[in-house]
Amino acid sequence: MITAIVGANWGDEGKGRMVDLLSQDYEIVMRYQGGNNAGHTVINDKGKFILNLLPSGILREEVVNVMGGGMVIDIKHLTGELNNLRKAGIVITPNNLKISSTATICMPYNVMQDILEEERLKDKKFGSTRRGIAPIYADKYMKKTIRMGDLFNLATLEEKVAGIVEWKNLTIEKGYGSKPFTTKEIMEYLTTFGLPLLPYICNVTEFLSKAIDDKKDIMMEAQLGALRDIDFGIYPYTSSSSTIASYAPIGAGIPFAKIEKSIAIVKAYSSCVGEGPFTVEMFGQEAEDLRKAGGEYGAATGRPRRVGAFDVVATKYGVKMQGGTEVALTKLDVMSYMKKIPICVAYDVNGTRTDVFPTGDDLVVAKPIIEYMDGFETDISGCKKFKQLPIQAQNYIKYVEKAIGCRISYVSVGADRDAFIKM
Ligand code: GDP
Ligand code: MG
Repeated sequence: MITAIVGANWGDEGKGRMVDLLSQDYEIVMRYQGGNNAGHTVINDKGKFILNLLPSGILREEVVNVMGGGMVIDIKHLTGELNNLRKAGIVITPNNLKISSTATICMPYNVMQDILEEERLKDKKFGSTRRGIAPIYADKYMKKTIRMGDLFNLATLEEKVAGIVEWKNLTIEKGYGSKPFTTKEIMEYLTTFGLPLLPYICNVTEFLSKAIDDKKDIMMEAQLGALRDIDFGIYPYTSSSSTIASYAPIGAGIPFAKIEKSIAIVKAYSSCVGEGPFTVEMFGQEAEDLRKAGGEYGAATGRPRRVGAFDVVATKYGVKMQGGTEVALTKLDVMSYMKKIPICVAYDVNGTRTDVFPTGDDLVVAKPIIEYMDGFETDISGCKKFKQLPIQAQNYIKYVEKAIGCRISYVSVGADRDAFIKM
């Protein structure tokens, strides 16, 4: 069985938490795209962890975690993440962590380029996480990157690095007027942080092919959500990778495999990090209250997240793009404080009501059409069964299920591993 766990919204839906919970039934968990711009929070009996690069199955010793070829990996950051987990007592060996030899290394000059560009843009900035993600994916398509497998051959590596550094300095030095990078410093960086990773780097396609033949259960964990997908998201305010489930087998290294289950993670309200249209955005006290109740501060960056009402239009679209076969609705407990729960049921685009998610400038001018449901105004974080929920919470779940047209199979009511309801 191959399952994708993906975001149906703007990201931060609680994917890490759901992967941590559901990975008990899987032998392999993998990340297939993105880099350390991800922030997946997991809280379980071992403690609280924020994972940026490692798959969220890393906290279960019996699970093999794979970092797929679709990822861009900042090897210095990965080293830090591994050290932090080890300090917390998590055992990580080449047996439970495998890194694809075709994954791309995100370089210090990519991070620099990201920062230089955001600063050049000033008030027009994209709200990038400044971790080099857009520049490194651009380099990938320019075919000017170093991949994890290149670390095995230092003799040819230096030549490759020299060529790329010369090219990159045309941008860094001649374009932005910043200090150029040298081949020597990049080689030092690669040997310092790359060589200790060699035991983990392998042919992931071979490993996963065999796992499929052996009928192993594989989970593919996405970063971000459908609305940040490079093709189907709110371009250009997207990430630079494909966040959708149908890309998962490609980013994983097994393009011949089929996703049987796509669990779309949907948050009970909306949140978004970074710039761009966010139709349901709340402001002032209303926003402050929801942000506080939901603890909506970026896991990777600490930035206050923009928040808003549940968005039927965007979520229905997100679930569809994810090929969602079922939905996990997260953070329902956060709405406990609301007397009335706002829901965006449709958009008004230049005076026309629509429930089709618009693209381009139509999305920029779209206004939310809000309706209200009764709030439940009780602490539901201890509920273990649907029937134990107040009727208003039951009604909200049923409403969302019908509105987005996909079965809800899990509802989470707290950040801890066990705070969930199986429907
Ligand atoms: P991800 O990027 O999709 O993995 O999500 P994040 O970890 O960035 O954001 C989700 C946040 O909500 C984290 O701080 C989680 O600990 C927290 N969280 C997850 N599920 C629940 C829930 O059901 N209730 C509450 N109150 N918090 C939750
Ligand atoms: Mg996150």
